[in-house]
Amino acid sequence: MLIDTHAHLVSLEDPDEAVQRASENGIGKIISMATGLDSCYTTIEIANKYEQVYAAVGIHPHSASSYTTEVINKIENLTSEDKVVAVGETGLDYHYMNSPKEIQIESFSAHVDMATRLNLPFVVHVRDADDDMIDILTSARLNKNPGVIHCFSGNWETAQKYLDLGFFISFSGIVTFNRAEELRDAARNVPFDRILIETDSPYLAPVPHRGKPNEPANVRYVAEMIAKVRDIDIPTLENQLIKNTKTLFSNIN
Ligand SMILES: [Zn+2]
Ligand SMILES: [Zn+2]
Repeated sequence: MLIDTHAHLVSLEDPDEAVQRASENGIGKIISMATGLDSCYTTIEIANKYEQVYAAVGIHPHSASSYTTEVINKIENLTSEDKVVAVGETGLDYHYMNSPKEIQIESFSAHVDMATRLNLPFVVHVRDADDDMIDILTSARLNKNPGVIHCFSGNWETAQKYLDLGFFISFSGIVTFNRAEELRDAARNVPFDRILIETDSPYLAPVPHRGKPNEPANVRYVAEMIAKVRDIDIPTLENQLIKNTKTLFSNIN
């Protein structure tokens, strides 16, 4: 069984069919991410519909402009829902800068504070913002296994900084891309008990589906590449990934 630890089911064209195809392809569990208050509700809805689907609640950095104390309090209330296993996705994105830097930082800090108080893991999106991200995380009070750097796309040197802070590193379809040699090098070096995999569906479809809409069933291509670069067999990788996922997202059955 493989687990897709990061998908946006509510952004897929047909979430129900995608969940079905994932099951048929041996994807036993999916953690679906929210990107703002509205998608928190719809994400919880789909998690309640399917036993194998779990939810994370939070505000994506692109939507950080929607952050207010009132919104974050509503999200905090939603963390008590049965299928909610994490806070996210949250983080900093200075590449697209869809929301101003200051409010991204404010929103992210509020998510970190909430996750830490509630003893929930948080899911970090970081793009062109590693310096600020590492500063914020270094000065924050973090729990053991605080969260995951999702869709990691840096090199081994950057990965080590997040590992030192206690984070898991999650690899997406990017690891299958032709020019991703540095990323594959990181995937080879990350300690075995710190690796996770994901699709980030509907984005970032792995080779051989690059450029098409992504879906959780494709997480197997990510697994195949990780197994290849680490020179291990798929069952060995699967077993470790299940352990890692349950260690971080401890509310998953
Ligand atoms: Zn993201
Ligand atoms: Zn995402």
